[in-house]
Amino acid sequence: MKKEFVVIGLGRFGGSIVRELVKQGANVMAIDTDSERVDEYARIATQAVVADTTEEETIKSLGLWNFEHVIVAIGEDIQSSILTTLILKELGVPQITVKAQNDYHEKVLLKIGADFVVHPERDMGIRIANNMMSNSVLDYLEISGEHSIMEVKANESIAGQSLIELDVRAKYGLNIVGITRGEEIMISPNATERIQVGDVLLIIGADVDINRFVKKVIQK
Ligand code: ATP
Repeated sequence: MKKEFVVIGLGRFGGSIVRELVKQGANVMAIDTDSERVDEYARIATQAVVADTTEEETIKSLGLWNFEHVIVAIGEDIQSSILTTLILKELGVPQITVKAQNDYHEKVLLKIGADFVVHPERDMGIRIANNMMSNSVLDYLEISGEHSIMEVKANESIAGQSLIELDVRAKYGLNIVGITRGEEIMISPNATERIQVGDVLLIIGADVDINRFVKKVIQK
């Protein structure tokens, strides 16, 4: 069965989510109060509807609780974003992801039960800054305010060492949970595995510890 999503708010962020979900084969209902934006997505989304989701009756009449995941991508109108999230939560939508405008907005959203809060501008800023600081960090996924999973490229300074010898768990409090070597992907690699130049290490841990590891070991 196809996955079913609702995206509320068709700005650049919401719009790109609609496009990507459809591209990946999902059924998507796209909603906005702005009929021009809805027209734009009429041919892309499975269904495109002009509606104000701060009205409980509207959400009920659209049967939004039948969808497994609703994404609230209402931008600047924080009040509408919060009210929409609250109504969706009260109706029992299983998964609600909301775009936050700032830290206070995020706090309120989590308090009223949003399952996921995203902060695209802030997160992208952090990601770009991380990439600029280090050629070794290829990608990064924030898992809490202070913890991440990072893809780090191994160079000569650690090549030839096994995971036991590196001992990142004791020395840095980190876990290397995967290694990509060309086409090969090792999940939970063996402790005796020796690192090669160009390996991509998938590391999980606190941001400060990962940065310490990257600076001390990879960039030395
Ligand atoms: P970006 O374009 O970078 O995503 P943004 O997050 O600020 O910017 P906006 O351009 O503000 O996004 O788009 C949010 C969309 O949400 C707008 O198209 C707006 O019409 C829509 N919207 C706002 N309030 C509601 C509401 N109550 N119900 C449905 N749609 C809404």
